[in-house]
Amino acid sequence: MKENFKIALLPGDGIGPEVIQEAVKILKIVGKKLNLTLETEQVPVGGAGYEATGHPLPEESLKAAKNADAVLLGAVGGPKWENLDFSLRPERALLGLRSSLQLYANLRPAKIFPALLEASTLKREVVEGLDIMVVRELTGGIYFGEPRGVETLADGTRKGVNTLVYTEPEIERIAKIAFQVAGKRDKKVLSVDKANVLEATGLWREVVTRVQKDFSDIELQHMYVDNCAMQLVRDPNQFDVIVTTNMFGDILSDEASMLTGSIGMLPSASVGGETGMYEPIHGSAPDIAGQGKANPLATILSVGMMFKYSLNREEVDSWIEKAVESVLNKGVRTPDIMSKGMKEVGTTEMGDLVAEELEKNGI
Ligand code: NAD
Repeated sequence: MKENFKIALLPGDGIGPEVIQEAVKILKIVGKKLNLTLETEQVPVGGAGYEATGHPLPEESLKAAKNADAVLLGAVGGPKWENLDFSLRPERALLGLRSSLQLYANLRPAKIFPALLEASTLKREVVEGLDIMVVRELTGGIYFGEPRGVETLADGTRKGVNTLVYTEPEIERIAKIAFQVAGKRDKKVLSVDKANVLEATGLWREVVTRVQKDFSDIELQHMYVDNCAMQLVRDPNQFDVIVTTNMFGDILSDEASMLTGSIGMLPSASVGGETGMYEPIHGSAPDIAGQGKANPLATILSVGMMFKYSLNREEVDSWIEKAVESVLNKGVRTPDIMSKGMKEVGTTEMGDLVAEELEKNGI
């Protein structure tokens, strides 16, 4: 099994560098324990990329990402760059990375830690045991379809157009990922579409059904997106893996993640090409940047996903999860997940505690 890996670190902006610093501690411990050589290269993206080179995704940074086995990203964006031309905004770096690395599948787990049950806005009995994986198609659909734009008509009024397009190969490959992911979980896939209204998602339903024939141990169900949005808050525990289009996935994965109550706890993986990209789902949180208050756990859990999906060390994901769980069980909290009777800690201390736990018990 391969033992040398290159990892590109892209801290980005705001709290990005703060949470990446903690994730690197975890990376080092796992590397040492498993005798892996993890070569890291840190490069600027987003606002930091723009400041360094005038472009949010500098060529050198893209090169480092492409040469790596996996990319670990913090977050990009901030008020300083909000008035830049759209093509130069920090967030453009994400689109550039996704398309250059051919990351067509976004995996977003929404899992609740028992110690944080009270953080959810839903009733305890609804979210207890919650463990969902949303697989979102990331490089197609209405966000990329042509024609698109706003045009002025002969009568002087304007018309806005976006186009929902999916080809059979695009649907096949994302369906395969969903079935593979489900194979390592509870073996249930729910495909979400709007096949009663949108022809493109009628094709989606047909192709997903066909791909399932190669995964006979996986149960497949279909649901319309409006019903799924409702079911997610009514009875989320009925779901295991949810696979859906780019826009539906964008919305449903945010809804699913919020069932757990804290944006600072949720990791994500974008896969499909040779290099996978791993990042917390939260943004750069300019309101708390530089104050040592950011919750690093989403980024630390993203390191777990990186070992599972890009570095062929699946077991590390659950080691890291267990270490996080055990620190939470001791009553330690960053401010975003703080509750009565708990001990409040900052970003660095939280990172140190998880690292200590991993050193002691994890591996
Ligand atoms: P955000 O996720 O940055 O912050 C939303 C709220 O959650 C804030 O109150 C913030 O303090 C809090 N929060 C977020 N992460 C946290 C953490 N780890 N610990 C504790 N609290 C945390 O979303 P926003 O405010 O809408 O966006 C801020 C900037 O981030 C914008 O420029 C936006 O474009 C960008 N953004 C980037 C990404 C990304 O890089 N993938 C994703 C979303 C938003």
